[in-house]
Amino acid sequence: MKEIGHWINGKQVKGTSGRFADIYNPATGELQARVALATPAELDAAIRAAAKAQEAWAATNPQRRARVMMAFGALINKNIEKLAELVSLEHGKTLPDARGDVQRGLEVIEVCMGAPAMLKGEYTDNAGPGIDLYAMRQPLGVVAGITPFNFPAMIPLWKMGPALVSGNAMILKPSERVPSTSLMLAELAQEAGLPDGVLQVVNGDKEIVDAILDHPTIQGVGFVGSTPIAQYIYGRAATNGKRAQCFGGAKNHMIIMPDADLDKAADALIGAGYGAAGERCMAISVAVPVGDKTADALVERLVPRIEKLKVGPYTAGDDVDFGPVITPQSRDRINGLIASGVEQGAKLVVDGRGIRIQGYENGFFVGPTLFDNVTRDMDIYKQEIFGPVLSQVRAKSYDEALNLVIDNDYGNGTAIYTADGDTARDFASRVNVGMVGINFPIPVPLSYYSFGGWKKSAFGDLNQYGPDAFRFYTKTKTVTARWFSGIKDGVALNFKALD
Ligand code: NAD
Repeated sequence: MKEIGHWINGKQVKGTSGRFADIYNPATGELQARVALATPAELDAAIRAAAKAQEAWAATNPQRRARVMMAFGALINKNIEKLAELVSLEHGKTLPDARGDVQRGLEVIEVCMGAPAMLKGEYTDNAGPGIDLYAMRQPLGVVAGITPFNFPAMIPLWKMGPALVSGNAMILKPSERVPSTSLMLAELAQEAGLPDGVLQVVNGDKEIVDAILDHPTIQGVGFVGSTPIAQYIYGRAATNGKRAQCFGGAKNHMIIMPDADLDKAADALIGAGYGAAGERCMAISVAVPVGDKTADALVERLVPRIEKLKVGPYTAGDDVDFGPVITPQSRDRINGLIASGVEQGAKLVVDGRGIRIQGYENGFFVGPTLFDNVTRDMDIYKQEIFGPVLSQVRAKSYDEALNLVIDNDYGNGTAIYTADGDTARDFASRVNVGMVGINFPIPVPLSYYSFGGWKKSAFGDLNQYGPDAFRFYTKTKTVTARWFSGIKDGVALNFKALD
């Protein structure tokens, strides 16, 4: 069986722990590889080498570091098909979706090409007699990126681009379900001119994450994954004095007003609810039509669209709209939640359980599922399902719909479909969610803005990518400098204004 190791000091190395995690082909259900899980000793060696490499990298001028990003971006673009194939092979998403996964990561690298402008400091001359004051941004040192399975290219790129171009070294710990894309990206970064040791890919599970969180050399942690783990990582990193930003799970609602274009709203719900088998942190998992008339008309439009959806392996090309979920455990958990929805009284309009794909009977498939009459107390409403399951919660009024979103624990993304500008504006202004779409279902901000949720969807300060990322990966040092020509100054004991 294929064995996947780590990327240390510019080359692939085997793991030494003797512990492995299984990697499935989610479409066939076969074990296709196993990935080595690093030991704390292997991690320590990787961190020491990274710390050494980081000194020279930080001393490299920002425009040279940006040029590495330029070459890296070009190589990602050149290899987009290979990268997408790797993503699909381990994750199971369709090839067009996998290309998008690479593309949305590449866009962050493109912004990093202009990083010198973002990394500039501040300067005030004559802040006092002969005194100049300046602030500079310096890298944190060695930082860690810990990433989830659902975007094997995009999220590692969101982490490594801003961290590296800011002069840090990074220990990247990708999801043990999808390690290969990160390894290929590390190889491309080296080809682009990134010095060896500046990016180390260390594969592992909880044991290695804990070792990262406790390692004194690690100065910052950028995490993306589920909410319980995000909260845990934030707490442990902060206790150990590290800067941390930890992005968690989601339950994204779309409000559909009676005046909305219902065909467009239904199209949007199909894409945002079922694309990538619902394994997106920005997937819409709750539709909130306002008024029973809107709700009935929406279901009428959703059902025929759902019936047309084609589920299958990515190798079937354009014949497939979405693929399998990531593991058998994930499939069983989703099927269990669907059963709980029925038991707890929701109306199962379309049941995706028990779907059989000819030739792929052992794949981890769940068909598109639609619930109506879902209420706040049901598990399918309270939990992040992370599967192709859309729940409709009926609201009597706009205020009831808005309050549903406001009361929800999560606050990653949300959307409203309406023809009324005042309602849309009110929604954007009052809702307590980090990313808002108006007649736009998955409002992932472009790479020159920043991505981040509110409430239990994010812990820590600052968003990922965009201007916030350069602030997260640098610390500010402020210098007050005085030169004495023409200045007569005696001893001063009191703290006083410079002028
Ligand atoms: P996960 O939390 O299971 O794993 C994420 C990372 O944490 C992996 O690298 C994993 O190895 C590590 N990990 C897992 N359990 C751990 C533990 N007990 N202790 C320490 N480390 C641990 O998440 P996942 O299943 O890979 O990804 C799906 C989740 O990620 C969903 O909840 C989704 O909403 C969320 N997500 C959030 C965003 C965002 O930006 N907010 C983006 C993508 C995915």
